[in-house]
Formats: sequence, C-alpha cells, structure tokens
Amino acid sequence: MSFGFAALVTVFGAAVGSFLNVCIHRLPLRLSLAWPASHCPKCGAPVKPYDNIPVISYIWLFGRCRHCRAPISVKYPVVEIATAAVFLGTFLLFDPPAVVPRLLFACAMIVLAVIDLEHRILPDVITLPGIAVGFLFSFFMPPGWRDSLIGLLVGGGSLWLIGEVYFRVRGEEGMGFGDVKMLAMIGAFLGWRSMLLTLFLSSFLGSAIGLGMVTVKRGDMKYALPFGTFLAAGALIASVVGDRIVGWYASFY
Ligand SMILES: [Zn+2]
Repeated sequence: MSFGFAALVTVFGAAVGSFLNVCIHRLPLRLSLAWPASHCPKCGAPVKPYDNIPVISYIWLFGRCRHCRAPISVKYPVVEIATAAVFLGTFLLFDPPAVVPRLLFACAMIVLAVIDLEHRILPDVITLPGIAVGFLFSFFMPPGWRDSLIGLLVGGGSLWLIGEVYFRVRGEEGMGFGDVKMLAMIGAFLGWRSMLLTLFLSSFLGSAIGLGMVTVKRGDMKYALPFGTFLAAGALIASVVGDRIVGWYASFY
C-alpha cells in the first residue's frame, strides 16, 4: 500500500467515524440520522462545516463549542481515531472483496460498543439487519454460508441458553436479548470459529476489567458491565487475528 493511499484510507475512516458519532448519539434517542444537521447539544448552535473536521476541529476548538464553550465529549475524537485505525488496518489485512463486509462489521461494532457503554442497550436496528447482511455476504466470500449459519445459530443460541439458565436459577434477568442478537450477528459475519474466539476474548476482558472494578469500587459486577462493549472489542480482535489463532490452535490436533 502506498503512503498516499494509506493517507486517503485514514482520512476516509475518520470521516466515517464522524458519521458513526451521529449514529451513536441519535440511534438510542430514535432520532433521524439525516436531519437536522449537527448542532451543539447544549446551546443548539449548528456546527459549521469548518468546525466539523474529524479530530482536527476538536483540537482546534480545545474540545469546546465555539458559541457557548460547553465541553464536547472526548468520545467524538476517540471514535474518529478508532474508526480511522480500523479502516487502515482492514485495508492492510484484507483483499478488496472481503474489505467491504469487514468494514461494515467494524463500523457496527464501534457503534454498538459505545451505545452499550452509554445506555446499556444494543439497538435492534443494527443487530437484526446485521445478522442478515453478514449471512448474505458469506455466500460470496469467507467464512462461507455453512460456517456463517452455524456461527449465527450457535452464537445466538448459546447466549440465549446462558440467559435462560441464569433466569431459572436466579429468578432475574442476567443478560439482555441484545447480547444474544449481537453474538448471532458476529457469528454470521465471522463464522462459528471466530465467534467462539470472540466469546472467549470478551469473557476474559469482561472478567479482568469486572474483577478490577469490583476490587476498586466494591461495586455490583453485573450492574457495572456493558457486555456488548466487550463483545465488540473481542469481535474486532477476532476479525483481524481470528483465522490465524484458530489455525494455530487447530494445528495441535
Ligand atoms: Zn454550544
């Protein structure tokens, strides 16, 4: 990849990240993505195009609204930088046809991760079409429709079962159905092997951070953890290195 192309992909990724910020802000509030144009949530002043440049505007404005000086959340540049990095990584690691589903998948994971972190919900408008889109792509490229179908059924089914058992034993809802649909979507896009790797990675990340939080804050573990955020992190790792780790593991058998 030439430097010029890499720069182009990074800038494009940051611009997409800017749109993902709009999705993250508006989807949980059930607002239109297209209208109105971006405005300051505090004073309502419309954001001028020259103040809407990913990352750079945030630095230029010292993270504050130009009009009312209200602080702008650091999540905006963080999402833009993360999306830019994911775009660059995907173009480096995947060949042209597979780039398209992987980019769509990564964008969905970023949006779900932040929405779950802020609102503890995983909107159906992302996960349900996500399951269908992932499965459709698998007819034309890896992981192939069989792996995809097993991935979405086992992914959704296993979490659903855990939730059911937890509910029967504890008599309370332990896991939302959002997680079930999200893991089904991950299985549909990545296939069952990388889906299992995702489940392993996200449980590990969740336990490690959860234990840390319980130790520091003495908090309630279940209340504290947005599992979808960990699923997204695990899925992004599995999307990049999944095939390699699964191949390495299989070489022992
Ligand atoms: Zn303002």
